[in-house]
Amino acid sequence: SESGGNCYRVVLIGEQGVGKSSLANIFAGVHDSIDSDCEVLGEDTYERTLMVDGESATIILLDMWDNKREGEWIRDHCMQVGDAYLIVYSITDRASFEKASELRIQLRRARQKEDIPIILVGNKSDLVRCREVSVAEGRACAVVFDCKFIETSAAVQHNVKELFEGIVRQVRLRRDSK
Ligand code: GDP
Ligand code: MG
Repeated sequence: SESGGNCYRVVLIGEQGVGKSSLANIFAGVHDSIDSDCEVLGEDTYERTLMVDGESATIILLDMWDNKREGEWIRDHCMQVGDAYLIVYSITDRASFEKASELRIQLRRARQKEDIPIILVGNKSDLVRCREVSVAEGRACAVVFDCKFIETSAAVQHNVKELFEGIVRQVRLRRDSK
């Protein structure tokens, strides 16, 4: 399921309410009136070209994990089509952190022979007083699951740009080592 060229299909997965759509909206530039580079391809698919380390990359971002209307097949579909994954949990919700581990295992099972770039994303980092998952725990989990880790806040737009640049770098690292 390679998208080819410098175009990467990135899939948002994680429990409902952790902030996937909020991150997708920032990516889409909903809150960014100057740069209107984003094309909305469907209600839950966004495409945008970024410059990362002096090289352009197009991300097609899929935010359809919670689309119940389409039924369970959509999740199988999501597990198959990504060139890269953002597994999102909320730092204020331990259950969502545990779910993230489950999803990592499911993804590994679904794509056994592939070395898929993944970033574990601890969102809602602005809610310091409600924190249930420490930075150290997030980082340790990423080590176990052999993926990158970042904490973000969609609410105050902290580390969101870094997140999307990070996933492009992860895809490139694998491409360049082939
Ligand atoms: P999704 O179900 O994973 O798509 O999550 P949403 O993007 O719909 O967000 C769920 C709720 O969490 C909404 O009320 C958002 O406004 C809120 N939310 C999302 N990201 C953040 C964040 O970084 N900080 C805070 N404080 N709230 C957030
Ligand atoms: Mg959503």
